[in-house]
Order: sequence, then structure tokens, then C-alpha cells
Amino acid sequence: MNLVVVSNRVARGKANEPMTGGLAAALLPVVENSGAVWVGSSGRVRDGAQMEPIAQVEQLGQGALALLDLPAAHYAGYYEGFANSALWPALHSRSDLIRVSQEDYHSYREVNSFVARALLRFQKPDTLFWIQDYHFLSLGAELRALGVKSRIGFFLHTPWPARSVIDSVPNHRELVTAMLAYDLIGFQTEDDRDNFTACIRADLGVLVRDGVVRSRHGHTRLAVFPIGIDADKFAASAAKAASHPDVSRLRRSLHGEKLAIGVDRLDYSKGLVNRINAFDRMWTMHPALLRAVSLLQIATPSRESIEAYGNLQSEVARLVSEVNGRHGEVDWTPIRYLNKGYGQGVLAGLYRSAQVGVVTPLHDGMNLVAKEYVAAQSPVDPGVLVLSKFAGAANELDAALLVNPHDIDGMARTIAMALAMPLNERRMRYEILMTKLRRHSIQQWFADFIESLQDSEAAESVEI
Ligand code: UDP
Repeated sequence: MNLVVVSNRVARGKANEPMTGGLAAALLPVVENSGAVWVGSSGRVRDGAQMEPIAQVEQLGQGALALLDLPAAHYAGYYEGFANSALWPALHSRSDLIRVSQEDYHSYREVNSFVARALLRFQKPDTLFWIQDYHFLSLGAELRALGVKSRIGFFLHTPWPARSVIDSVPNHRELVTAMLAYDLIGFQTEDDRDNFTACIRADLGVLVRDGVVRSRHGHTRLAVFPIGIDADKFAASAAKAASHPDVSRLRRSLHGEKLAIGVDRLDYSKGLVNRINAFDRMWTMHPALLRAVSLLQIATPSRESIEAYGNLQSEVARLVSEVNGRHGEVDWTPIRYLNKGYGQGVLAGLYRSAQVGVVTPLHDGMNLVAKEYVAAQSPVDPGVLVLSKFAGAANELDAALLVNPHDIDGMARTIAMALAMPLNERRMRYEILMTKLRRHSIQQWFADFIESLQDSEAAESVEI
């Protein structure tokens, strides 16, 4: 098999570097072991329409990493513009945050077309292309327009929202039509697949039977592949991380106090404001928990040049300081708030140091932090996961304490309950969760998708 994986961001596999997000974290180990070529942005841009698209090729495990310098004239319109100011808010059901222009849409299409031309270099008769995420909805159609006949699969790491929400993205009909160039489209959850099905039925009037779209463009299979992690590997690195200086300093600083942990990109989909309000409410409702539990919130800066992210950064910082001002003491800080990223080895040790993991997104495709928190726990004295029912992970991790992140009182009560949970119940929940994590591993996700792509019928060329 000659596999080419494409995503906007890639990971380089350096142990101490933070991951840029769940996609890179998940793909790294499977790409390393599969011998695939992983194509993505180098993070740099260049002028010149005729430029050589591949800037750099490096070895990555048994495979290779091919980095593209994207066209300078279109990068901002593609990345900060259409992908992250129109598609991202829409996919996370935040129509109110959509900011879009036709120039941005044009740049998005141009970058998709540029990447398609760059991919031709990797095409062989048996090549499988696997395109990742919302940055490249139209990449398959661009490849078909260039005459590519290979199987092309697509996986959406984010949710797919209700029809009325996606309708608020201009050009959405063109984009979903373009998506029918893929032979296989994978979703995180059944809800996402069903929303997409409803959208194409209504918008394009196509037939969907037994999970296959039959249109004048050919056949596209729609299927669900919940993404996983390598739970045992994460558990081993959590056990090893106790000696890491950051982890041992954290543990020493607690003086027997309990710890809750949150780890998120600073993104409005992650429910950070609701979470901090819930802790505020919990300390107000249960004064016995003052000085008895603190929150370590790692909030990694993300997409800072976009206004909605800048606003969120200010709002969260203000809220943290209000809550610390209200409940703090000369020798006690309720919320330790950090705006930086950590390598996954250290993160594993930080997760294991916390009695409660709080993962409370308003909407999230899957949320790998939830899975990592569980995998990092000590089997003899595991912590408790408090998880939003609106994260894709909640379908599988239903033995966590599920919460509605809009219900601040409910979250406050649930976090207090997690802190008080007896050891036998913690162990029972941990065992159930770990069994599921092991069953739905990242290796299984990868193998299932590739097998399904190989079995799918090749879609025909799509005109858009
Ligand atoms: N992550 C990291 N360092 C950090 C914060 C997060 O390496 O400081 C990783 C984390 O381990 C996880 C990923 O980034 O694998 C975040 O994935 P998730 O699915 O939770 O959210 P996303 O950022 O993709 O929306």
C-alpha cells in the first residue's frame, strides 16, 4: 500500500514539544509505523505562483514528512479567514462568530488547489490519499479535476452541525458538493454523520442508502470511526513522568491538597468560561473545599490573530483573576492558570497528579484530552473524569461523570461529587473506561479507515 496522508498541521515527533492539537497527536504514531508519506504545511509561506510546492522532505519513522510552503497571497484568507473564522465556528455551532468574505473563500479554494497540485508528485497507480479535516473539504474534488483516479478518503475531526448552522456558511452548497468527490467520508460520531446526511439530502437532493451517497458524482460512503489513543503507551509514560521536574514540583507544592486539572487549547469551543464559573460556584457552595482543592488549568494559546480568540483570552484571564481574588488567601491560589504548552510526556504526569480531570467543551469532535486523562491514571488509586456530554468522547466514555456545561450549578455539584468518590467506585469506573480505550485504539481507528477506503468503490469526477 502506498499511503499519502494530508493535514494542515503535522507533528515532528519530538518528545518534549507540545502537540498542536488532537489531529497531530493522533496521527503521529500511526503514520510513523505505517510507512506513509505525511504531507502538511511547513508553517511558512512563500510568494510566487509557480513555486516548487514541496519545501522539505524528512524521514518520519518508517515513512516521510513532506512540508509545503503555502502561497503567501492566500494563506491568511485560507487559514485565519475561511477555515478558522467561517468553517470552525460553524462546525462548532457558533454561527454568531462566523466572519467571512468572498476573498477568503477564494483563498481557501486556491490553497486546496495548490495542495492538490503538490500531491501529484506522490501519485502512483496504487496510491491511497487520506485527507484530514475541515481545512481541505474541497481537496478531493481538486485532485479529481487533475485526473487523479486513486481512492481518496476524508476524515472530519470536528463535529458536523445541524443543517441550519451549516447553511449560514456562504458557498456551503459548493463545498458539500465538492466533498462527494471523496470515496469515503469518516465522522467521529453517528450524530455528525446523520447531520451531514440530512444536509446533503436537503441541499443536493441526493439519495443516501445504507450509508452510501448515490449521486451523479458516483458513490461516497459515509461512516463513523471514533478516533482513539494508545492507552497503554500513555499509561506507561504517565507512570514514568513522576520524576519529571515539573511533575515533582507540582506534587510537592500541593501539601496534601487535592487537584483538578483542565488542559485545552484556548478555544471558545472548550467551555473554559463555564468551567471556571463552575469552580467559582463550587467554592461558594462548599466552603469546606476552599484550600482543599485547587484547579490547574493549562490553556495553550491558539489562533491568536483571530479576534474571537483574542477576546476569549482576555475574558478567561479576567475571570481567573476575579475568582482568585474572591477565594484566594495569602498562602493559597485557587486556580493555577498557565498560558503555555507542554510535551505529552509531562502532561501525562500532570494528569496523573490530579484527582479530577475536567473536560467541559460546549462542542468537540472527540476530545483526546479526556481519553489521555483516563489512560494516565494509576490503576490502584485512579482519578475521576468529569466530561461534557457534548464531546464526541462522551459516547464511549459514558462511565465518566457526564455533565451539561451550560448548567453551572450541576457542574459544581458533579465536581464536588467526583472529589468525594470512594475508591471502589473510582476503580470500577476506571476499569470500564480503560477497557473501552484499549478496544478503540488509535491503531484500530487507522486500520478500520484504511480497510474501508480500500473496500470502497472509486467515486467519479465531480464538477463544481
Ligand atoms: N496537548 C499537548 N500539549 C499541551 C496541550 C495539549 O501536547 O500543552 C495535546 C494533548 O495531549 C492532546 C491534544 O493536544 O493530544 C489536544 O487534542 P484534543 O482532541 O483534546 O483537542 P484539539 O486541540 O484537537 O481541539
